[in-house]
Amino acid sequence: MAEFDFDAVVVGAGAVGLASGYALSRRGLTVAVLEQETAIGQGVSSRNSEVIHGGLYYPTGSLKARLCVEGRRRLYAFLDKHHVAYDRCGKLVVATAPEEVERLDAILEQARTNEVEGMEKLSKAQVAELEPELRCEAALLSPQSGVFDSHGYMLALQGEIEAAGGAVVVATPFEGATPIEGGGFQVRSGGAEPATLTTRYLVTAPGLSAQGVAGHIEGFPADLIPAGHYGKGRYFRLQGKAPFAHLVYPPPIHGALGTHYRRDLGGQAVFGPDLIFVDALDYSVDPAAADLFAAYIRKFWPGLPDGALSPDYAGIRPKLHGPDEPQPDFRIDGAERHGIGGLVALFGIESPGLTSSLAIGEEVAAKLGLD
Ligand SMILES: Cc1cc2nc3c(=O)[nH]c(=O)nc-3n(C[C@H](O)[C@H](O)[C@H](O)COP(=O)(O)OP(=O)(O)OC[C@H]3O[C@@H](n4cnc5c(N)ncnc54)[C@H](O)[C@@H]3O)c2cc1C
Repeated sequence: MAEFDFDAVVVGAGAVGLASGYALSRRGLTVAVLEQETAIGQGVSSRNSEVIHGGLYYPTGSLKARLCVEGRRRLYAFLDKHHVAYDRCGKLVVATAPEEVERLDAILEQARTNEVEGMEKLSKAQVAELEPELRCEAALLSPQSGVFDSHGYMLALQGEIEAAGGAVVVATPFEGATPIEGGGFQVRSGGAEPATLTTRYLVTAPGLSAQGVAGHIEGFPADLIPAGHYGKGRYFRLQGKAPFAHLVYPPPIHGALGTHYRRDLGGQAVFGPDLIFVDALDYSVDPAAADLFAAYIRKFWPGLPDGALSPDYAGIRPKLHGPDEPQPDFRIDGAERHGIGGLVALFGIESPGLTSSLAIGEEVAAKLGLD
C-alpha cells in the first residue's frame, strides 16, 4: 500500500474514532486520526455517564446487543492492561412500583439472551441488604456494569495508535474526500495548514457531525444519509455523601435508559441524564429542573435531602430517531450499503457507544475486509 500517504484515515478522535484507529493499527496499518478540536475526546465522548454497560436491554440480533457485550469484555481487559481506572461496582435495575416488576422479568430474559454474565433477580429484602437506603419492590443485579475514566481510556488508545507509527492530528477538520480510481481516497483537511492526503481506507466517526461529513464524500448516496436528531441529557450532582455503591437505574424510558444514579470515580453522586429533543447544540442545564429530578429520584431514594441537587453538565446524543419514532440500531455502513469500497461510515453512535467502542473498531476492520 506504499502509494498512499496513510493506509487509513479516521475522521474524529472521540472514543469510537480512536478505537477504530486502534483496531486498524493492531493490524499493521499506518493510521491518521483527524480531529477538528484542539484536543481529543471533546465531543459526545466527554459528556456522558462513563458507565460500562452490561448490555441488558438491546434487541436480539442488533449491533447494540452484540457490540455492547463484546465491547464491555474487551474494554475491561484493555483498562487492566493500560492501568486506566474503573470501578466494576455493579448495577441495580429497580422496580419502584409493583407494576414495574414484570418489566424486570422481560429485561432479565433479554439480558440472558444477550449472554450478559451473572444476572440475578433480587427481592426487596435482598436489595435492602445490599443498599439499605434504596427503596424498590424488586431489582435486577448486573454485576458486570461499572464506571470508568473515559478520558484515560482515550489517551491510552491515542498512545497505542502513535506507538504503531500512526498519528492523531488535532485542530485538523476533515473537509471532504474524493474516491481515487482504482481504490483509495484523496482527503482534504482544513485548519491552519490545509492539506490534501491520500489513503487506502477511510473511516468516518464524527459523532454529531456524521451526516455533514458523509455529505462531503463525493459519490456518497444522499438517500443513505439518515436524518439526525439531537437528544439532550442533563445531569445534576448531589451535594453530600453518595448514598449507594451500585449504579441504580429505574427501567428504561422510550429512547434512553433513563435518569439513573452513579457514584463517579471521585466518590461523588451524579443523577442523569434525562432526554429532551433539541434543535441546537445547547449544553445549558436549567437549575429549575432540579425539582423534576428530585421527584423522580425520590421514587427510589426517599432520603434525598431538599435542595441537595446542583446543575452539573449536559450531553447530546447523536440520534437517528425523533421523539415518537422507534429507536434504531447503530449504523456501521460499509461498501455493501453505500457502494464505496474502502469506506466505513458510522451514524447514530449513541449509548452504549462508549462501552461498545473497541468492538465497533473490530466491526469497522471487518467491514474493510481486515479481520
Ligand atoms: C448524555 C449521554 C450519556 C451517555 N452515557 C453513556 C454511557 O454511560 N455509556 C456508554 O457506553 N455510552 C454512553 N453514551 C454514548 C457515548 O458517549 C457515545 O456513543 C460515544 O461517546 C460516541 O463516541 P464518538 O467517538 O462516536 O463521538 P464523539 O466523541 O463525538 O467524537 C467525534 C469526534 O469527531 C470530531 N469531528 C466532528 N466533525 C469533524 C470533522 N469534520 N473533522 C474532524 N473531526 C470532526 C468531533 O470534534 C469529535 O471529537 C452517552 C451519550 C450521551 C450523550
